Amino acid sequence: MSTLIVVGSLGLDTLETPFDRAERVLGGSAAYFALAAKLYTDVGIVAVVGDDFPEAHVDLLAGKGIDLSGLQREPGETFFWAGRYHYDMNARDTLETRLGVFADFRPTLPDSYRDAPYVFLANILPSLQISVQEQVRRPRLVVLDSMNLWIETQKDQLTEAMRRSNVMTINDEEARQYAGTFSLRAAARTIMEQGPRAVIIKKGEHGVILISEQGVFGAPALLLEDVKDPTGAGDSFAGGFLGYLSETGDTSFTGVKRALIHGTAVASFTVEALGAERLATLTREEVEARYREFIEFTSFEAASISAAVG
Ligand code: AMP
Repeated sequence: MSTLIVVGSLGLDTLETPFDRAERVLGGSAAYFALAAKLYTDVGIVAVVGDDFPEAHVDLLAGKGIDLSGLQREPGETFFWAGRYHYDMNARDTLETRLGVFADFRPTLPDSYRDAPYVFLANILPSLQISVQEQVRRPRLVVLDSMNLWIETQKDQLTEAMRRSNVMTINDEEARQYAGTFSLRAAARTIMEQGPRAVIIKKGEHGVILISEQGVFGAPALLLEDVKDPTGAGDSFAGGFLGYLSETGDTSFTGVKRALIHGTAVASFTVEALGAERLATLTREEVEARYREFIEFTSFEAASISAAVG
């Protein structure tokens, strides 16, 4: 039985940055998420690929011990996405999206997935996220991700998916778009009124903000020497975050804050190489070392208030 399951895209990406280019490499939200989460716990993928999906990618995922019993293989083309980044790597242009077999994807959970306590609904059509929510029996924590496309075209369905989720991850621009307000705190409150008890707002190189019923917390991204490709940062953040939570089972505010730092640490490796290259070799020890670096990076001794005001 998998402790953590993810439904999302699995596909081939062509990536262009100001420094580099890679063609038809392993991509998709489920790939990034699963590689990250597997550093912590057992993870099972629910996704679809076509008959052109290289066996080497399947071998990589299976070789890591990722459960692929929920992976469907259909005749036709695998999901393909091409994206380009400029010097401001917080913004990207989608050059091409070809859904291929993903267009007719109907997620079907193997029985061994239905009792998974932790569920990540990566960015796919909200009706498919709802279908997975309906198939899991009694999950402990359901985390939902989405994107601008679904806010624009499927807002009601997305709101329904939110209603059945406990935590939502979303980027700053999309949170503002969903709520129609500039304040991220107000936008998070609007999202929480739909169901989630907590919202994690992703701000790219500026880190993440957690807004929950128990309080508010902010974590900067680590300051890296070399940023090559931000693709998959959000999904591998979610993998580190939810992987850690499912390993510890600690969903207190303190536990969730720690999980957020694990997500941050894992994502910091993802962006240091093209595609999922770095994630494929990443070890838990390397993540722990970066977790410790993060403590150094963000700790300071506060002067007492009376001393500060003299
Ligand atoms: P992230 O950078 O974390 O937002 O995720 C990047 C991954 O999302 C890439 O590997 C793409 O293959 C995948 N992706 C891009 N657009 C879509 C889409 N419309 N539906 C599902 N997955 C997508």
